[in-house]
Amino acid sequence: MCGTCCHEVPGDYVKRIPIYPDEADKLIEIAKKENIEFKIVEDLVFPDIKNEKILILTYRIRLDNEKEGCPFYNEQSGCIVHTSKPLACQAYPLALKRIDAFNFEISIDPLCNFIIQNYDDLEHLDLPKLKEIFKDEYPKAENFYRKNKKLMFKIRKLEAIKKIEIPRKISLDEFNSFLREWEREDIIVKHFNENSLDSKS
Ligand code: SF4
Repeated sequence: MCGTCCHEVPGDYVKRIPIYPDEADKLIEIAKKENIEFKIVEDLVFPDIKNEKILILTYRIRLDNEKEGCPFYNEQSGCIVHTSKPLACQAYPLALKRIDAFNFEISIDPLCNFIIQNYDDLEHLDLPKLKEIFKDEYPKAENFYRKNKKLMFKIRKLEAIKKIEIPRKISLDEFNSFLREWEREDIIVKHFNENSLDSKS
């Protein structure tokens, strides 16, 4: 409720609030209706060398504005898109930490005020206790994780049936030239049911 998670953090660290393409569409629509200046930037992307496209799995909310924060944050009332807020926000301070190109794990954001204030008590918690403390957020983090996994699975399936080809090794120069020149395509998991443990894709 403090709003820290909705704002840029001081120092060199760049705050990242990831949103899926379908969430981005929803927020863009709300921003248009409410006349709010809302900007996003590509976040997790894969180059598809078969079709010469950049596949977008997530965007992130741009915070480089006057308030250095999410434009949906209101000083008096907090998040004004509470019922439509992205999974990353619903799960916070639980987050997804990237292990490698295709794998993520649920982690805790150490920049959250609650975590900073209670660090000594939280440091050695086991999973059951963690689930108890974050009883509202943990199921959301599981949804977030599950949706991410489905996206990765979709990418791998498209690779397996040879519809796309993601290079495992690529130079930074090559990647940057692909980013400059290629078209974009959003990768979306259809029929993802946040309330179901067995959602279909
Ligand atoms: S959508 Fe809401 S909760 Fe998420 S960063 Fe913006 S104001 Fe904060």
